Amino acid sequence: MSRTRPNSRRVRDMRQRLLCRDGRRCFYCRTPFTSDTDATLDHYIPYSLWRTWWARNLVLACTDCNSGKGDRLPWPLVWVLLATAPACPAGVPA
Ligand SMILES: [Zn+2]
Repeated sequence: MSRTRPNSRRVRDMRQRLLCRDGRRCFYCRTPFTSDTDATLDHYIPYSLWRTWWARNLVLACTDCNSGKGDRLPWPLVWVLLATAPACPAGVPA
């Protein structure tokens, strides 16, 4: 698990592994890629929050979804975090 961006060959290899793992479609909108080069690497948890190139945190996304998501947490993860967060954290007045 590297914290720095892998070289271009490793990025190409990682893209191929993710295409096999997730199918040749965008992780977010499920639109099939017309070619493998349409698939962009996206950090599911933004790199600014979790500085890793671990494959489990990477998904393939179309350009529109990747640029739309930007450096934010994906909504499904936000919903899980909100659902599991205490309603009123200890020590914080309501
Ligand atoms: Zn998409």
